[in-house]
Amino acid sequence: MAGIFDHAAVNRVQQANDIVDVVAEHVSLKRKGREMVGLCPFHEDHRPSMCVNPTKQIFKCFACGAGGDVLKFVQMRENLTFPQAVERLAERAGIALESRRLAPQRRDPGSDVDPNLLARLNGWAMKNFQQWLSDPERGKVAREYLATRRISADSIAHWNLGVAPNAVDALAKAAAAQKIPSQLLQQGGLTAGTGQDKFVHRLMFPIADATGRCIGFGGRTLSDAGAKYINSPTTPLFDKSNTLYGLDRARHRIVATGTAIVVEGYTDVIMAHQFGCTNVVATLGTSFTTGHGRTLRRYAKRVVLVYDSDIAGMEAANRALEVCLSQRLDIKLGFVPQGKDPCDFLLAAGQEAFDRIVEDATDVLQFKWDRLKAAFEGDDSLAARRTMLNEFLQAIATGLAAENIPVLDSGLIVNKVSKIIGLTPREINADLSRRMGQVTRAMRSQDDRRERSGSIDWGQGLYAAAQREVLEVLLSEPGLFEEHRRELSTSLFDVPILRQIAGVLLDVLRSEDDFSLSAMLARTESVSLGEAIVELQAVGEQKGNYASRLSDAMEVLRRYGKDSQTMRPEDKGEGDWHVVESESSTPRQNRHSLGIS
Ligand SMILES: [Zn+2]
Repeated sequence: MAGIFDHAAVNRVQQANDIVDVVAEHVSLKRKGREMVGLCPFHEDHRPSMCVNPTKQIFKCFACGAGGDVLKFVQMRENLTFPQAVERLAERAGIALESRRLAPQRRDPGSDVDPNLLARLNGWAMKNFQQWLSDPERGKVAREYLATRRISADSIAHWNLGVAPNAVDALAKAAAAQKIPSQLLQQGGLTAGTGQDKFVHRLMFPIADATGRCIGFGGRTLSDAGAKYINSPTTPLFDKSNTLYGLDRARHRIVATGTAIVVEGYTDVIMAHQFGCTNVVATLGTSFTTGHGRTLRRYAKRVVLVYDSDIAGMEAANRALEVCLSQRLDIKLGFVPQGKDPCDFLLAAGQEAFDRIVEDATDVLQFKWDRLKAAFEGDDSLAARRTMLNEFLQAIATGLAAENIPVLDSGLIVNKVSKIIGLTPREINADLSRRMGQVTRAMRSQDDRRERSGSIDWGQGLYAAAQREVLEVLLSEPGLFEEHRRELSTSLFDVPILRQIAGVLLDVLRSEDDFSLSAMLARTESVSLGEAIVELQAVGEQKGNYASRLSDAMEVLRRYGKDSQTMRPEDKGEGDWHVVESESSTPRQNRHSLGIS
């Protein structure tokens, strides 16, 4: 069952990684009674639907059904197989497993390369880049550049900065010397098709995920050749459209302050942290995407996007707003004056001036409104005004459809718009409803796509319900197993998912070890099986009344279990005596306040 690793090793890894700590690397958690709650990272969560239970060491989302132990969480979150998740958490806890090294693996042709292996490869490359930066010859130009940007020695060490030397195959040669296969270098995006290094003569910024491991690189040119910045290509480990530079170093401060500050450049992040603003992250040369929004929402209540005040900065800010309005994220915009980037601004004006930009940041709708007003009051062409109006109404419709703007406020907005554009409030309202309809339909189809495809088939009828009941009780009250030990066997279970669970459960109950839910989950490799187990346990616990439910259910199994299949009642009506829905009613959060003047 455990595949490459034995049960003892998997248990050890599971126990060494507290689920609360691991989940908190991805989601901000708050204590609620005996559990911790947070926004579920597995669906578009608008209120904290995910509970993490420190005693049972499990998590469960009451909205989308995701659930399991720490291994399942990492499997799902990082798209890993079960053995990969075991390796990943072993590494996290510093446990040495007898496992694979940086070596080619036997896998199906065409299948994705192991993300853990790529992370180790990146870590190795990072060390090389760092060593080359302190090399008198190879690191000279990069060190000079860092000095002109006034990035301190502490920052260089803190951010693991390095250099890709001015040679086309420095890294490829180093890899060959270590017997690292060239194919792996290419899969990790460190070499190009020709077998030559991807990053040549560049200052190297290692990019970490929220948990701190290196998932890719950004490289800034040290000559006039080529693009100013390039990133690692997309790999199973790295997707720049939802990665934020510095999140691993900034997330604690973001959770503590409730605010995330987003800038555009690596050096902006480094300088901000150097000045003590440690809740700053950056997008990787892309505009702010829905993916970024979704990531930050799990840590921060407020996001302040800080842009250059030039036209490109304004346009970037404007594009980012579309994303924010549909995400129920309280987003504000700050602009650095005089066309400076935040890095230079911090050096020139200091931390307090930077803090003021963040404090004085403009509300999203205020920004849109200012643009609209400027277009209508200035000498913009009719077409330009039309575009601005379209943009503004679309933003309002998106905010309303996402319930991000209170309806009351929209009345005020409509009146204001009416005054400057010369349409009646009625006409504007009609336009808004049409747009809202479109936005709502688009959002709904997205939600549908995200809904779990084919929820669990628990079987139907009294016999299936009785099987489920037995598992529900035993998962919650394993002490009752002894009484029915001799009777209970996997063959009593004929619903596939229940039979699978019974197989593992009876196995664990019969073993000498004390039963625990997490020990059971450590033996299940499949994410969906883990989810089903957590679901059964949660439902079972809510119903309580264990002993009598178990004896009733056993009675049904006894009666029908030995008879032929045709004797079993299959009508749907009797199946629903075990359905319990949980209801949570946390108030919605993160509404924009409208300060349109
Ligand atoms: Zn969920």
